[in-house]
Formats: sequence, structure tokens, C-alpha cells
Amino acid sequence: MKKLIIIFSSIAFFLIIFFVFLYFTSTSFLLRNTSLSKTEKENLTEHFNKKEISYLLEEDCTSLILKIDQNKEFEKQNLEKYCTYYKQNKEVTEEVIYLVKHNLTNLPYDENMKAFIEDEHAKPENLKRYLEFKKQDAGTTEEIVTLVNHNYDAFSNKNDTMRRLHLEPYFLLNNIDRYQTYLNNHPETSTSMVVSLVNVGMDGTPYTNIQKANLEDGNLILVNKFHKLRENDVPTLSAVTDQYSTQTISLTKEAKSALTRMIDAANKENLSLKAKVGYYNYATQSYTYQDTVRLHGEAYADQHEPRPGHNEHQTGLAIDFVNSKNNDVNRLKDSEEGKWLMENAHFYGFILRYPEGKEAITGFAYNPYHYRYVGIEEATIMKKENLTLEEYLAFYKSK
Ligand code: ZN
Repeated sequence: MKKLIIIFSSIAFFLIIFFVFLYFTSTSFLLRNTSLSKTEKENLTEHFNKKEISYLLEEDCTSLILKIDQNKEFEKQNLEKYCTYYKQNKEVTEEVIYLVKHNLTNLPYDENMKAFIEDEHAKPENLKRYLEFKKQDAGTTEEIVTLVNHNYDAFSNKNDTMRRLHLEPYFLLNNIDRYQTYLNNHPETSTSMVVSLVNVGMDGTPYTNIQKANLEDGNLILVNKFHKLRENDVPTLSAVTDQYSTQTISLTKEAKSALTRMIDAANKENLSLKAKVGYYNYATQSYTYQDTVRLHGEAYADQHEPRPGHNEHQTGLAIDFVNSKNNDVNRLKDSEEGKWLMENAHFYGFILRYPEGKEAITGFAYNPYHYRYVGIEEATIMKKENLTLEEYLAFYKSK
């Protein structure tokens, strides 16, 4: 009997010691004297183990971690890096995730850095340069980001004009020398126009340095005064029924199906929109061009009629539209049909190919009835950003 009592009391003694040990080493014991709220404590115990919590407490880092651990970029394996940076830069919050992720924790934290990190165009690899350039340039955060992204901080001939040039959204570093040359020769031209003109090659002379246009480029094929189709370049064509066109025309299959969808939509709004002209061949354009030269002279012809091989109607992707009640392209502009097209064509993948105000860029007079199929996604970007096909390709397809 005595023996049993001894055994039981020993077991009880060890159990008590064990539970006391468990209590003193538990996370709740670790957190008992902190100023954290109940929810914060729960949050910590839910996401971190004892070792991690004791590290956070030791480093005085819990308040930072509680602010950032719900961020989807938060990575538990970087706990020490977050805390080390926080120790030196008490003001930092969410940005520490970005800094650790991009190995930028050697940079001291301040309000400028916060602003740069938040800028949607900022690149982590340029962060140090933004901060350094900010000391020399009074520009806004957005300007500094653009200028550095465009390498202006490393540019040797800094002046107001060059600064404005580098701030242009469609600035391409590869073209810098040509922008400069163009500006020197045409100091009255706005920097935005200089960027556009040079990007599309209009700092050169039209109908010189002509390159071959390729039908294989599909919906984004470029045919203009610098890009030429050969006489035997003929796309695969599909005939358009007279429900959609005032005369027999043909287009590529994709352009045709976009056309029918668009005209169906216009019909639902009681509009009499139809196509009048689609594909035509090299020989036809040759005749049309020569005829225009004969009637109006070469200078006029070159503003209004492409030379043979330079007319995008030869791609099967271009359409001239009319109000089918009068069938006159020249009366489209002020009609309800013309206005509807201006507003809606991009939803079906069409762009107004020779817009008003862009004559120097396209090389052709404003043409309110000539549209070009490029695809919905591309047409939407061009419409939204007010870009011609030339500008779009130069900026978005040259990188
Ligand atoms: Zn046309």
C-alpha cells in the first residue's frame, strides 16, 4: 500500500512539473506581457510557431509583422530580413516586402522611396537611380520615374527640351539621336510630334527606303509609304454578301466576319451602314493613282492615293464605308452611320486608319470613311491611346 502511494505521488509530481514546464514554454506565456490585443495574439499564434514568435518578440518586430503578414507577397522565410530592415528603418511597413523581394534592403527608407515603390511604372531595378536623380531634379514622382526609365539621368546633354522629350510616353531610347536631329532641324515641332514622327520613320522621305510588306504578318500588316506589297501578293479572300455591302467586294475571312458582326450591330440601331470597297489589286491601284496624278498632279495624288503596292486595300483588311441609302463615301462623315463608326468600330476590331490631326504620321490626308481591320484587342488600345497603326507598331512591337 505504501509503495503504491509513493508511485502515484511520484507520477503526480512529474505530471505537475511537466504541465508547469508546458505552461512556461507556451506561446501564450511568451505573449503574456506584451501590449498586443487578443486578436493580434491569436493572429500570431495562428501563423507562427513558438520559435518564430520568440524571435519576433526579441527583435521587437511583432508590430511590423502584424501589419504585413496578410499581404499576398509576404514570405515567411524572409522573416529575418524584414525584421533586420525594420530595426534600422522603423517607419517602413508594406514596402519592406518589396525591398526584400528585390534585394534592395541596402537602401535607407524614406517618403520618396515609398512614393517610388507605389508608382505603377516604377521598376525595382531603377529604384536606386530614382532616389539619386530625385536629389538633382525637382520633378514629380511620376516624372522622375519616366525620366529614369528613359535613361535621362544618364544623358549627358541635359536641358529643358531634352527633358521634355524624355518625358514623352512613347519615347524610345533607340531613337534618341534621330529625335535630336529632327528637333534641331524643326525646333518648332512639339516633342510629342517629334517622337511620333521619328518612331514611324517620318523623319525620312516617303517612298524612299521602302521595305517589303508581308501578308504573313496577318491583321497587323503594315502597308504605307515605306512598306510595299508586290504585284503578286494576294491574300486569301472571301466574298461579302450584298446584305453587308453595296457592291460585290471581298475581304480576308476574319475581316469579313468582323464586318458582318459590326453591321448586324449597327442595323439593330436602325443604321444603314454598309461596306462599299474592300480588297483591290495592284493593277487597279496603279490605274487609280495614275489617274489622280493626271487629274490633280503628283503632290495631290500622294496625299490622297497610295502608289501601287502601297495601298492597304490590297491586304483584304481595309474597308470604305457608306450609308447605303446614298452609297456616297464622301457623305459618311456627317451621317449617323459615320458617327457610330467613330465610336464603335474598335469594338469589332476596326480602326479609322487615316485620322484627322495625324496626317503627318500616316502620310495621308484625313479620310473619314476608310477603316482597317486589326483585331479587337489592338484596335481597343489604338483607340484608347489615340495611336495610328504606325505609332502602335513602332511602340508596342519594336521592343
Ligand atoms: Zn479606302
